[in-house]
Amino acid sequence: MKKVIIGNWKMNPITLKEAQKMLAGLKLGLRGNKAEVVICPPFVYSVEAKKVFGNSGVRIGAQNCFGKDEGAFTGEISPTMLKDLGVKHIILGHSERRILMGESTIIVNKKIKAVLKNSLTPVLCFGESLEEKQQGQSFASIEKKLKEMLDGVSKDDISRILFAYEPDWAISTNENIECSPDDALTMALFIKKLMGEIYGKKAKDSVRVLYGGSVGKENANSYLENSAISGLLVGGASLNIKEFLSIIHTV
Ligand code: PEP
Repeated sequence: MKKVIIGNWKMNPITLKEAQKMLAGLKLGLRGNKAEVVICPPFVYSVEAKKVFGNSGVRIGAQNCFGKDEGAFTGEISPTMLKDLGVKHIILGHSERRILMGESTIIVNKKIKAVLKNSLTPVLCFGESLEEKQQGQSFASIEKKLKEMLDGVSKDDISRILFAYEPDWAISTNENIECSPDDALTMALFIKKLMGEIYGKKAKDSVRVLYGGSVGKENANSYLENSAISGLLVGGASLNIKEFLSIIHTV
């Protein structure tokens, strides 16, 4: 199976013109790439991104959505609307949404179900806080969060989810501590084991776990080397098209 490389542009860039330039640069540089690439720009650039990549195999993703298809939910965007635009993946539960926007596991659970119902791929982010890590609670925290977020999700749907282990303490901060490839691997194996215990052997074997947290061109390969890590979720470094392409071409 191909490694998955997802670029999360977060709330960048601030003009359509810049987004067009980034998309054009990506398109040019992606020739001959061997990865499954997903670009997640802000909602407002989804149509443009789809126009650039068409049916080229590069997927367009979104960074969030609401947990219902339509209705009186001012300011929200539904998975059905995104699907209609050609979006295939939706990032859910990102630490910036959990920490800055107060998104709970209950809310993420509703979103996962809505995304699956629309036949889209949830990119489910989860991670432990620095405090939890320092207290030796990493595994317990991940297990609790995953169980809450996946409550009511069927065994067959588990393999449709892309799991992205993103420790809160390793994401885009200046004072971050690096999550070593060995630690990322240990967590990926723990998640597979946990899914196996809850959903059975088929889930254990088919679940794909990505790593995300300050990945750049220098360290991308060290995470990708192991077959238990199915790919990367790249934030800050995906905004530098040259660097993002070089991460993709490590595959
Ligand atoms: C992310 O936004 O999911 C992410 C991993 O960010 P960064 O690569 O900047 O740490």
